[in-house]
Formats: sequence, structure tokens, C-alpha cells
Amino acid sequence: AIQVAALDKWYGSFHVLKNINLAVAPGERIVVCGPSGSGKSTLIRCINRLEEHQRGRIRVNGIPLDDSVKNLDAIRREVGMVFQHFNLFPHLTVKENCALPQILSRGKKRKDAEDMAMHFLEKVRIPEQADKYPGQLSGGQQQRVAIARALCMTPKIMLFDEPTSALDPEMVKEVLDTMVELAEEGMTMIVVTHEMGFARRVADRVVFMEAGQVVEINEPSIFFDAPEQPSTRRFLANIM
Ligand code: ATP
Ligand code: MG
Repeated sequence: AIQVAALDKWYGSFHVLKNINLAVAPGERIVVCGPSGSGKSTLIRCINRLEEHQRGRIRVNGIPLDDSVKNLDAIRREVGMVFQHFNLFPHLTVKENCALPQILSRGKKRKDAEDMAMHFLEKVRIPEQADKYPGQLSGGQQQRVAIARALCMTPKIMLFDEPTSALDPEMVKEVLDTMVELAEEGMTMIVVTHEMGFARRVADRVVFMEAGQVVEINEPSIFFDAPEQPSTRRFLANIM
């Protein structure tokens, strides 16, 4: 579970997140959308402290995100993240990309880490790519490696920041399918995406952000068919 309460963040003098309140229950799937620059990435990056916030409270599975390194380590064990640009290590094979973080930050034996890597590469349906380098894979395959790599750390929560927006259209579906499967298995997920078909199908609630604020949170049927806020209506009219 995630609790974000009265969260404020500034970049210098720029007030990027304004009084954000969001509680995510275990197993819940949240989709976050909103215009470019509205603070979506900043919000999810605050949850595993890739960005620091200045005011308010964040708790992840009961652990407060504060200045304690111990708590931060504990939170990073709970949370996996997948980015728009896959951020794979280009000089490591696919299997090594998945195995190395387990060895370095969990102290796993190489054999166990590689077994885990293969398990999740099978899950995302690219075990045959295990010995290739990222540059030899399609964008959709690279993103599935990034998902497998995150899953190898056995997170309880997954954060996705526009995981399909750097992909050619024909590769979007294979990545979304992987995410749908993860959702169906009960993973707690926050997904920043403009894939509204995915949101409708998978989200328990959709969050609309604008100018650093959460403007609307609703279940998909209301969010898409009868949004409460005029700015949500305008946004949806523009992207659909
Ligand atoms: P997009 O849809 O384009 O990814 P976003 O909703 O994810 O946008 P953020 O990346 O969170 O938006 O950025 C929110 C605002 O904060 C933007 O105005 C951006 O220019 C600004 N910003 C982001 N990162 C920094 C930074 N490191 N330093 C200063 N300003 C930043
Ligand atoms: Mg962003």
C-alpha cells in the first residue's frame, strides 16, 4: 500500500507538486494521466525517492519515507520501477541485466540470480533473447527486459512511467499485455500512461493531474464516460 499525504515539492522556486493526497490499497491498479509537465513523473519518482519532497508524508507498505537510509532501502525493496527509456545496461546481455542487480544489491549467488532472470524472461515471453545485448532487441522486447529486471527484485509494488510512449505502435501491445498479466496477478501498480484502453481495462482508479495538482480521481467508468471536472473533459477530448 502507498499513502501520499499533503505532499508538496518544489524544483528550486517552481512549485511542481501541490498538496497531493493519494492512497493506493494493496493490489490496487492506479493509472495517472495529465498534460505534459503536470508533475506525473515527479510524483511517482517521489515514491521511491528518485526525487525528494519538501512537505507532506509518504508511506510505502507502512514504512515512512524519511531521511533514514534504512527506511529508504526497505522501500526500494518493495518498489520496482520501469521507465519510458528502458535504462538497460548496453554492455550486459539481457540475462546479465536481470541477474546483476540481484547479485549486487541482494547478495544473491550468480546461479540463483540467473535462474530468477530466466524465470521472469519466460514470464515476459522472451527467454530466447537471454544471451543477446539490448541493442540487438526491438523496443518492445527491451521494455519487457526492463519489466523482467524489475520483477527479479520481487517488488510488491510496480511503478511505470510511460512505459510504451517511446515504442513504435506495433510494439505497444506486447508491453501492455505483459502489464495486464501483472495486474491480473494482483500486483499493486501505479502506471503513468496515456493508453486509455489500458486504463479502462485495468485501472481500479484513474488520476488526472494538471499543473501539479490532482484534479480528479475516479473509477474508469465515471472517469471516461462522465468525468466530473471540466479540465478532465477537455483533456480527454484532446487525446481521444
Ligand atoms: P510529461 O508528460 O512530459 O512526462 P510530467 O507530467 O511527467 O510530464 P514532470 O516530468 O513531473 O511532468 O515535470 C513537471 C514539471 O517540473 C515540468 O514543468 C518540468 O519542466 C519540471 N521539472 C521536471 N524535472 C525537473 C528538474 N529536475 N528540475 C527542474 N524542473 C523540473
Ligand atoms: Mg513524465
